[in-house]
Amino acid sequence: MCGIFGVFNAGGEAAEQVAIGLHALQHRAIDYAGIVSTDGQNFFVEKGAGTARQVFSEDSGRLSRLHGPSALGHIRYPTVTDDETRDNIQPIVMSCEAGQFALAHNGNLTNVAALRRELEKRGGPLKTSMDTECFGRLFCEAGGLIVAKIAQAVGQIRGTVTMCMLFKDCLIGIRDPSGCNPLSIGRRENTWFLASETCAFDMVEADFVRHVRPGEVVFLSRRGITSHILKNPLGIPRSGCIFQNIYYMFPSSLSDIGMDLDETDRNSEEISDFRLRLGRRLAELFPVPDADVVMPVPDSANLIAAGWTTKRPAVMSVPAILRNHYLGRTFIAADQAVRNARLRQKLSVCKAQFAGKVVVVIDDSIVRGNTMRFLVRLVRSAGARASHIISASPRIKWSCRYGIDTPTDGELLASRMTTEEMRAFFAVDSLNFLPIKELRALSPKPESCCYACMTGRYPLPE
Ligand code: SF4
Repeated sequence: MCGIFGVFNAGGEAAEQVAIGLHALQHRAIDYAGIVSTDGQNFFVEKGAGTARQVFSEDSGRLSRLHGPSALGHIRYPTVTDDETRDNIQPIVMSCEAGQFALAHNGNLTNVAALRRELEKRGGPLKTSMDTECFGRLFCEAGGLIVAKIAQAVGQIRGTVTMCMLFKDCLIGIRDPSGCNPLSIGRRENTWFLASETCAFDMVEADFVRHVRPGEVVFLSRRGITSHILKNPLGIPRSGCIFQNIYYMFPSSLSDIGMDLDETDRNSEEISDFRLRLGRRLAELFPVPDADVVMPVPDSANLIAAGWTTKRPAVMSVPAILRNHYLGRTFIAADQAVRNARLRQKLSVCKAQFAGKVVVVIDDSIVRGNTMRFLVRLVRSAGARASHIISASPRIKWSCRYGIDTPTDGELLASRMTTEEMRAFFAVDSLNFLPIKELRALSPKPESCCYACMTGRYPLPE
């Protein structure tokens, strides 16, 4: 998973604004960060390994080398196909008869192997191992105006593209017809923004304008917004990633996943509301009658547990599982050894709150199960009388093909074990998952959501 933040016409502070925006999106990826800016003549590129704050620290001097009023930034999680010997940090800069441009991508092309073969046969070796460059090459090869070139490139890919392109005189946002990944438009007077999540607009004092619609291309320029709807000859269904609402997105972000699109395209739900609804329903389904305390696994389960206790007010919600906020998420650390070390450094418990209690631990999901197993051991060693786990996601049994960096099928605990085997593996008194039909019922338009990692039914054509 990645994060994108772009700004058009921000005076002399475009790169600073993008660095702030990337920092606000840091929960989406922590391994690489890059910014490309333009002064209307030239492009300036700065990239590095680490968080946005690390890569663009004052000491690095990088921001001072990014000139111009417009800029595009990207934060990235490396994928298994990454080749560390090649330049795989985005945005990438390319050039064709439409001009020079920077490209930043959130998503995953499922036909990348075939595309690479064809593109390299036609145009020589690609410079990176990222599928993003394949999209850029398809764009460059296509004929016509920019929007026609984008339509031709989108028409040749399978999978998901949420993409931003920065040209010398405009910033472009593209959301493929599935709308799998979010992208939104913000504005502060004559300055325009594009961001993976609306929480980033608050950080630069921009107002949320609307979401980019699934299948839409928006041009942000001195003329304002121009919109084009892409044709959808394959009939690709709208398939917003429901897992982003449960886990990935920041609680203050607005999501259009599973919402009706009204004519102003502003129809949204704040993630916090979705997670509270989720928690209330979990309490109706799994009330744990003898529970003394409920403890959320921070941070994504905090609001889910808050929702649970609104239906079970006699149970005290105690934030006794503590997270060190200066380390990244374990799930988005690329390597297992790194994940284990981060887990030990990241989570601790207030032991006094567990002694002699019946404890309900609520988490957003169980993926590999490492975090939950580690936590339950801490809870039991702190003297809990009984422990119960509630997962706000259904069993995650299938790997994501659309850009969310879930592990391979075999690494997913639920793909290897029954629920009873998982309960024994965690050594808890009960383990419950939100049933898929209940998750579907929580969305106003379940037919417009992707649930493939929970059902094995991948909605997009291969
Ligand atoms: Fe999201 Fe799961 Fe679908 Fe991937 S498979 S897009 S994680 S719901």
